[in-house]
Amino acid sequence: MCSPALIEQVKKRISRRNALAALGGAASVASAGCLPAAVSSKKSASPKNTAKPAPKKKRWSSKPVEQVSFSRVVDLSHTLHPDFPAWFSEGEEVTTRGNRTFVPPAVVEVKPVFEWEPDKVNLNQITYWEHVGTHMDAPSHFSEGSTVDEIPVEDLVLPLVVIDIKARAAKDSLALLNIEDVRSWEDEHGPIPERACVAMNSGWAKHVGKPKYKSLDANGKHRQPAFHIDAVEYLMEEREVIALGVDTFSFDNQHSPESDVHYRWLGDERWGLENLNNLDDVPTKGATIVVGQPSIKGASGGPNRTMALV
Ligand SMILES: [Zn+2]
Repeated sequence: MCSPALIEQVKKRISRRNALAALGGAASVASAGCLPAAVSSKKSASPKNTAKPAPKKKRWSSKPVEQVSFSRVVDLSHTLHPDFPAWFSEGEEVTTRGNRTFVPPAVVEVKPVFEWEPDKVNLNQITYWEHVGTHMDAPSHFSEGSTVDEIPVEDLVLPLVVIDIKARAAKDSLALLNIEDVRSWEDEHGPIPERACVAMNSGWAKHVGKPKYKSLDANGKHRQPAFHIDAVEYLMEEREVIALGVDTFSFDNQHSPESDVHYRWLGDERWGLENLNNLDDVPTKGATIVVGQPSIKGASGGPNRTMALV
């Protein structure tokens, strides 16, 4: 048996900056029979063993939800509709990183299968692409990690921390929530609680439906606030934060064109929420976020109803 403290120590050492050192350290722990989930697949992937990858293991063990009392519920989701601003526009050809081109379908389509007249029952076929509206990015969106159905349900109910960068974002569409923002939040409110969801409030939600939401530049690229990778690494390494949230399209913006935050965060079995709404209506600390994520096998994310208990 290994002590939880030892496993924790190894987990914390896995980062973009010291990944190699962490793997070396993990090898000695592995010999004691307690290799943490996050590195176990590396060890088993010997060159001869190409038949089947090691089964995925989850970083987060489920913990019972602490008792929560609340007096109101805040809807943190936007309503999804065909004109909701999306990363890609319907019908506009897009080239992928793998140099593939595709033409995005409608953001969401609600097609009647049965209708009140004449069927006396309504039933629609709904199609949408995963990363639209208020939605989850599961680890598998930018890694080989968990899909939405593999996230423990206990991890969908978390303490919510809201960090406000509205003043800076009002002047700069590419403003970043940086490590100083996290530190000054902690100076005022104490350490970020364990197993938290940390959400950026940039004031962007109120721009939905206006060109400002995309803030396209001369090259047609989006400009919107996001997380700085240093803040994200702090939340991973110094705090046990499970989820990120943004009130914009993405955790990354043009300051991290290679999607550093996505690869780093989701690649570490964490997940996040994009296009959040109504963050002005929740306190900076003390609310509980509840993510009503449809459990669709194999999904890398998808629209959901997210709420805060205040
Ligand atoms: Zn997404």
